[in-house]
Amino acid sequence: MDALTKELTPPQRDAVTHIDGPLLILAGPGSGKTRVVTHRVANMLGHGVSPFQIAALTFTNKAADEMRARVDKLAPGQPVWMGTFHRFCAQRLRRYASFVGLKENYSIYDSSDSKQAMKRAIAAAGISTTHCSPDQIASSISKAKNRLATPEMMEGHALSPQDAIAAKVYPVYQQQLLTANAVDFDDLLLHIARLLRENPEVRGELDSKYKYIMVDEYQDTNLAQYAIVRALSIDHPNLAVTGDPDQSIYGWRGADVNNILDFEKDYPNVKTVRLEKNYRSTPNILRAADELIRHNQKRKQKELFTDIPEGDPVVLRMYEDGYKEADGIVDDIADKIAGGQYKANDFAIFCRMNALTRSLEHAFRSRALPYQIVGGVEFYQRREIKDLLAYLHLINNPNHDVAFHRVINTPTRGIGAKTIERIRDHADHHRIPMLEAARHAQSIDGLAKRAKTMIGKFITIYDRISKRATSSLEDLIRYVVEETAYEDYVEKTATEQQDANPMANVDEFITATVEFDRQHPDDGSLDLFLEQVALVADTDKFDSETERVTLMTLHAAKGLEFPCVYIIGVEDDLIPHSRSKSTESEFEEERRLLFVGITRAMQNLQLSVCKRRAVRGDIRPVIPSPFLNELPLGEIKRIEAATSYDYFDDEFGDELNQDSYPESWDLPGENDPESGSGDDDIVLEKSVVTSFVDDVSQVAPPPPKAKPKPKPLL
Ligand code: ATP
Ligand code: MG
Repeated sequence: MDALTKELTPPQRDAVTHIDGPLLILAGPGSGKTRVVTHRVANMLGHGVSPFQIAALTFTNKAADEMRARVDKLAPGQPVWMGTFHRFCAQRLRRYASFVGLKENYSIYDSSDSKQAMKRAIAAAGISTTHCSPDQIASSISKAKNRLATPEMMEGHALSPQDAIAAKVYPVYQQQLLTANAVDFDDLLLHIARLLRENPEVRGELDSKYKYIMVDEYQDTNLAQYAIVRALSIDHPNLAVTGDPDQSIYGWRGADVNNILDFEKDYPNVKTVRLEKNYRSTPNILRAADELIRHNQKRKQKELFTDIPEGDPVVLRMYEDGYKEADGIVDDIADKIAGGQYKANDFAIFCRMNALTRSLEHAFRSRALPYQIVGGVEFYQRREIKDLLAYLHLINNPNHDVAFHRVINTPTRGIGAKTIERIRDHADHHRIPMLEAARHAQSIDGLAKRAKTMIGKFITIYDRISKRATSSLEDLIRYVVEETAYEDYVEKTATEQQDANPMANVDEFITATVEFDRQHPDDGSLDLFLEQVALVADTDKFDSETERVTLMTLHAAKGLEFPCVYIIGVEDDLIPHSRSKSTESEFEEERRLLFVGITRAMQNLQLSVCKRRAVRGDIRPVIPSPFLNELPLGEIKRIEAATSYDYFDDEFGDELNQDSYPESWDLPGENDPESGSGDDDIVLEKSVVTSFVDDVSQVAPPPPKAKPKPKPLL
């Protein structure tokens, strides 16, 4: 047995040494699925598989980075492709842009860009947002895209009212993206999935380029992702996936747990490996997780055992309110760190929504304890950085309307909202990009002479900057700052609430470009830089090496592990979220989300509930989450708030079963699942998506194999 497989259990070794043919690793949390993927990559390399033929796909950059770091330790410096689905698609799309009507220098709209574009499309489609918010429309369109539904497919279907409105906006939005030579995040997947379906040559080319494809957390794939990996594994069906149906938490974004449940049907000659030993959590934590998840009806029970000794009991703690909760937890963490056993990066605090971290931030700051928020306002979303990036975007892709909109009057040059509106209308009318429309300012009706002059000045600056596009990135960005007198502007307009020193952010940005130039001496195109920035998801800000406490949403915590975990706000209407409990399947997904949170903990776990919580300035009474009742309360250590509390005794259950839930909370937050959009009328059947798979397999038949009897999952 070599060094690589020595530290593995027999089933893990089985999976790691399987090279050719489909592979399914189905197992619970902390059982070493991700570890198997990294060891398997190293093992394949050791057995002569070319690194260029392997692609390992993940959902977050963080997961990809961690995978790369682990593989690097086992097989240093190998150019295996590891990254997110989105990055994979973005790179392929660069090459095949013309196949989907884009140009090679297409731009990726980040979520705030997409939001702008969506508002414009809604206005252009003449849709009122009285009954349906732009976010709801965006969510419907996003779901449609994740199901590979085109605007045409939405037409003529019986749709929920929300989807019906979205169906009117969808074609306009798509047309505007195309004119802007841009895509949103969902389009990255959609374009590639459709390209693979519609172009057998491209499909064949990519299938043989990436002979070995691996997907960690396959339970969270949506139809588009499913179609992509299927299409790339026809001639070379060496697709290896890992997953845990109990950790499927992205149903609200179109993920379909059936993708993993049907894997054995999709690949009848699959090798299936089950792992049952947990290496992560104490038995206390595992029992809590197991008792909870047993309440889901739609699942197969799987047993997990561990050799880890019995640890501290799980704690269920009641606080008076969110402030006390924050203070209490931060004090607790400070004490534990002072005790010398733990460092700050051993702690994580999870919440259902980002909005809940505000009081925690305050508590951390007042104790000068270092923390990081994963998914908070990130660097690239700051005003100064967005401004400068917009210039770079417009240089790279003159059709980028969102960027044009941002820079035309930034720094202020006396071009007012009305003028910009006229340019936009002209652009819409002629289906041309706004920059091009601005070049025809002389012929736009209703523009004042002064406005025309100012637009002319902007165009002159823009053209001058554009000429520098070929210099190094650092040069280019310094030139933009200088030519636009950006420093004067930003200092004059900095408000007190914002950073006291906005130019420090600009300097940090310049440092990032210097680093990029250094890393890409030959291939450092503006394209590539902007692509990297656009694909930096919120989770990238997470750095496990730095000594800081991590604050993140439960969704972002997937795949990670921490010695000490605090889950705050385990309250009704938060988890389960008020918008995610109307159907049994939504409710079960919420339970899985809590299960994911609990199973991140290695040694210590505390769940907390408040008596009252402030929601948009209103103090409201709280009902504990019904999920708390499902935990092994007999062995859990319960700590009450200073004053007595009705709910927090053995009548938990009775209180929870009452009909009078508090009014729904409408909390703001990044990770809000959108309200259920009714029936999935526009679902594109899997069989339709993969019909091309069947077509092609007739040309290159897979090895004959009897259809397996349905086996129990685990
Ligand atoms: P999740 O479902 O939460 O993503 P997972 O199944 O991917 O979990 P890993 O993250 O791969 O689990 O492993 C959990 C922990 O157990 C890691 O710290 C890993 O290094 C450790 N581990 C896994 N297998 C072994 C083993 N055979 N020997 C020692 N440690 C192991
Ligand atoms: Mg994992």
